[in-house]
Amino acid sequence: MKKQRLVSLPSLKDAAKRNPSESINYLITKIAPSAFLLSWGQGKSFCIRTYGCQANVRDSETIRSYLLAIGMHEQDSFDNADFILFNTCAVRENAENHLYGELGQAKDAYNKNKDVIIGICGCVMQEEVPVRHVLKHFPFISLIFGTNNISSFYSLLEESITKNELIVDVKSNSYQVVEEDQIPSYSRGSKVSAFVNIMYGCDKFCTYCIVPYTRGKERSRKEEDIINEILCLKEQGYKQVTLLGQNVDAYGKDFNNSYAFAQLLEKVAKTGIERIRFVTPYPSDFKLEVFDVMQKYPNIMPSLHLPVQSGSNTVLRRMNRRYNREEYLDLVKEIRKRVPDIFITTDIIVGFPNESDQDFEDTISLVKEVKYDAAFTFIYSPRPGTPASKMKNDLKDEVVHERFDRLKVLVDNLTEARAKSFENQIVEVLFEDTSKKNNSMISGYDRHGKLVHVKGDASLIGQIKKVKITESRTYSLIGEIVDE
Ligand code: SAM
Ligand code: SF4
Repeated sequence: MKKQRLVSLPSLKDAAKRNPSESINYLITKIAPSAFLLSWGQGKSFCIRTYGCQANVRDSETIRSYLLAIGMHEQDSFDNADFILFNTCAVRENAENHLYGELGQAKDAYNKNKDVIIGICGCVMQEEVPVRHVLKHFPFISLIFGTNNISSFYSLLEESITKNELIVDVKSNSYQVVEEDQIPSYSRGSKVSAFVNIMYGCDKFCTYCIVPYTRGKERSRKEEDIINEILCLKEQGYKQVTLLGQNVDAYGKDFNNSYAFAQLLEKVAKTGIERIRFVTPYPSDFKLEVFDVMQKYPNIMPSLHLPVQSGSNTVLRRMNRRYNREEYLDLVKEIRKRVPDIFITTDIIVGFPNESDQDFEDTISLVKEVKYDAAFTFIYSPRPGTPASKMKNDLKDEVVHERFDRLKVLVDNLTEARAKSFENQIVEVLFEDTSKKNNSMISGYDRHGKLVHVKGDASLIGQIKKVKITESRTYSLIGEIVDE
């Protein structure tokens, strides 16, 4: 068993604290590997498993950049890898359980090669119970760190290699925004489309959600750093950026500017990058000015992911969502008036503690009224440490599953009908990759974010083409490129 060095352990209680008088500290750091790591990494391989949302995908890209910079190469499997990292998601219990299954497989890799360094990071490692569980049951792990100290990755990795001990260093809160003096954009997962963080953390504390505890206080990046990163991506040939944040429309509230998101979006549009998307806006932070900017600039895509979570005012209140059904529906009406062809998608939770039949019917009627173009539906998963996990809940599993299935059929019918409306239409597609199932097909997204497959080869990747839709499926469209 490795010696354990517990530099700092997570605490959900500390993570819940928000100190309004603490100002955000902007750190510009040169993140450079030591001579030791540059020599250690040469020719070695790594494998990163990423779970969860785009924030985790972006964090994994950053860590991948660090590993490539020390001469390592990436591989898909654990076999013979020299470094294995799990970037974890804590939003629902099944993602956490999946991690423990994967750690079992990583143990086989360790049994074959005792020199392999295995690390775990991400949201699950921001919680004390899972960290204790890992320490007890998976003693072959070398490194545990969190979402708030990725910029210390090189020193943590070096220590775990040289001292051959298990290091746990998780910071429960952060008032920092770390900018690198070299923009770490070169190793993004795609050469066409890039995620760009505009802010970190969340201060909303929806009662079911663990994110405000695992990702810290809301803190915005400076506008000039975001714009410079996007200009750099554009120069490298990227065609699309997706602006990321837990509540993108809260961008700049920490600079006391509630209109900062609309202003930022306009500046991003002016960079001339071909396509701009953003996730996720929070309904009550949304300023109508954002739609005016969307209308003015054709390079902002007409799609909006606007999580509603429930159609019942009682449930919304108990979830601590800061809007009601009527306000949400008014916002949707206003959006459709201003950006008529907009695609609206959402997130919905089924089975929140003691959700009544009427509460659920309210969700069904809201979905019918909005006629979402697509929706992510989730069964409520109690997250230890959150207020909802302590609420009394007499709902039976079979009732929750019946409701979930009913909602899923409704959502799929709406998605299918919308997909059908694309048949025989001509859409503009940005091609991103060869199809996962058939490599004579190439895949991309139309302006609304609908997945489109056409016959073609990799030379199309990065190009925007007009495509006539010949066939629709629920989640994708098939078409052929039309001559221009
Ligand atoms: N910040 C975004 C928002 O407010 O909508 C979403 C971030 S969250 C990581 C993504 C989605 O996960 C949420 O919109 C919610 O529907 C779902 N989610 C979060 N906590 C959950 C839980 N405890 N059980 C089930 N779904 C949950
Ligand atoms: Fe979670 Fe609510 Fe924050 Fe979204 S806004 S990340 S659902 S707490």
